[in-house]
Amino acid sequence: MTRRWMIGLLSFALMVGLGLGMRPAQATAPLQPVQRVVGLPALPMTADRLTPLKGLEPGPVDFKLPQETQLAQGLPRQVTVLADPTNYGDRFATDVYGNVLQNQFIAVLHETVGSAQSAINLFRTPHPRDQDQVSYHALIGRDGTIYYIVPPEKRAFGAGNSVFNGPNGPETVRTNPNFPPSVNNFAYHVSLETPGDGMNNRRSHSGYTQAQYDSLAWLLAQTTIPDSRITTHQAVDRSGNRMDPRSLDLQRFYSLLRRYPTRAGLTG
Ligand SMILES: [Zn+2]
Repeated sequence: MTRRWMIGLLSFALMVGLGLGMRPAQATAPLQPVQRVVGLPALPMTADRLTPLKGLEPGPVDFKLPQETQLAQGLPRQVTVLADPTNYGDRFATDVYGNVLQNQFIAVLHETVGSAQSAINLFRTPHPRDQDQVSYHALIGRDGTIYYIVPPEKRAFGAGNSVFNGPNGPETVRTNPNFPPSVNNFAYHVSLETPGDGMNNRRSHSGYTQAQYDSLAWLLAQTTIPDSRITTHQAVDRSGNRMDPRSLDLQRFYSLLRRYPTRAGLTG
């Protein structure tokens, strides 16, 4: 290589280096992921057999508690069917402005509008584009089966532009400078499978099964989220076009939830 070439190459490298160095300083601080959480339901990963669900490609961590164990203990049927990792992310200890976050968890209730199976298939499909990514932590089928989809320590993408107006005032967190702030960073998202007459845009439908109410109450009784921090997608939504979960009887749900001794003394 000639001396002239060497000089040329060096100046090019210098230009590239300077160019990188001269990029405008990031306005955002690096986010610190949360490693573990307390007060949210754990995934049933201790099952002793791997049971791929009918109609689904088996994933690496699809577990079902043996049916007989669950019935003996009076537990709902529980299945872990993890979403594709593109459809969820870390929870963060700080926001894009570097503020330390101290929000307690909220539970956000949803409905699927489609079938549970189609929702699970959607979550298990890789979505490289940010705007297509979607997930809940858990989904409750018509028969009361609880499907765990996103690990509780991770941030499910259940709500877009959203705010929780609770006892402590408005709460919302920005973890991505390109998106409006949302409740996702401190939300536990649970969705109910919609009845057959609700797979449309109407304001209401025939509602949820007793098994769904029972499983929803059981699931939230496994959390330390107080009643005052249980909300709906409709209530936190700021886009104005979310109305789920439609036809949910909240009083019926709360009366089931309050039967659990663990709920006594929880304050918001
Ligand atoms: Zn929703």
